[in-house]
Amino acid sequence: MKKIVLPSSYSYIGVFLTLSCNLACSYCINHLVGLKKGRKLLRAEDWATGLSRLKSPRNIPLTLQGGEPTIHPDFYQIVKGIPDDMTLDLLTNIQFDPDKFAQEVPLEKFNRKAPYAAIRVSYHPETMDFNETKTKVRRMMDLGFRVGLYGVLHPNQVEEIQRVKAICEEEGIDFRTKEFLGTHEGKLHGTYAYPGSVFSEVLRSCLCKTTELLIDPFGDIFRCHHDLYNRLNPIGNLLDPDFEINDEHRPCDYFGKCNPCDVKLKTNYLQEFGHTSVDIILS
Ligand code: SF4
Ligand code: SF4
Repeated sequence: MKKIVLPSSYSYIGVFLTLSCNLACSYCINHLVGLKKGRKLLRAEDWATGLSRLKSPRNIPLTLQGGEPTIHPDFYQIVKGIPDDMTLDLLTNIQFDPDKFAQEVPLEKFNRKAPYAAIRVSYHPETMDFNETKTKVRRMMDLGFRVGLYGVLHPNQVEEIQRVKAICEEEGIDFRTKEFLGTHEGKLHGTYAYPGSVFSEVLRSCLCKTTELLIDPFGDIFRCHHDLYNRLNPIGNLLDPDFEINDEHRPCDYFGKCNPCDVKLKTNYLQEFGHTSVDIILS
């Protein structure tokens, strides 16, 4: 199959291996603006074929994510099947066994050089035990993997996140916090590039262009997280031999229900703050 060449403006490749999870956090971003469940999963050989077609500027890493990516029944085969010259990141809740992970996954797969760890573990106080999480992170580090721990600053758990952050800093574990994106007790949290784009009662029409390649568990490709989670308007499929990316603004009637991930202000690949995933022109 021919290569899929990413535009030079692209800065992120999200590979959603599954949209299911083995935990159920109340503020899970996957459910914020709808989630169409029950999707077929691509098997390891299809992921290997499809992902090896991608040709990106600056060798952008493939970020394996979900839901929880490690619960895909072929997870280890998928990782091993991705060509070695492609760099990988993993977003996980680390419910897996670190020793089994290390037996299956060569260290080089997740050891790219970047200002943050390639394996990023989320700690969710609602559904996870901190000591167990820390023990697993420490074990992964002892096995040679570069791992970082992340906590969401949800208003109900700020104290707990600050507590465990201090412990991690003392013990040499990289712990970072993430802004809470969503509403809590009627108040909108998060820093967004476009006022009125999230959790709004009013929908507006616009033109929208992305800088991210977002691939769902079946290989369908979407222009934003809202469309991916709701399974709306796929722009193509990873296994379509004719698929190519058109770097263009597309019409959208869902401005107001954007997923916070798409319109929040964040750091780009150069760690510069102020980047947004999409460019929106309102009608
Ligand atoms: S672990 Fe992550 S994906 Fe799973 S329910 Fe919690 S926030 Fe959602
Ligand atoms: S305007 Fe919002 S919902 Fe529409 S394509 Fe852009 S990010 Fe997605």
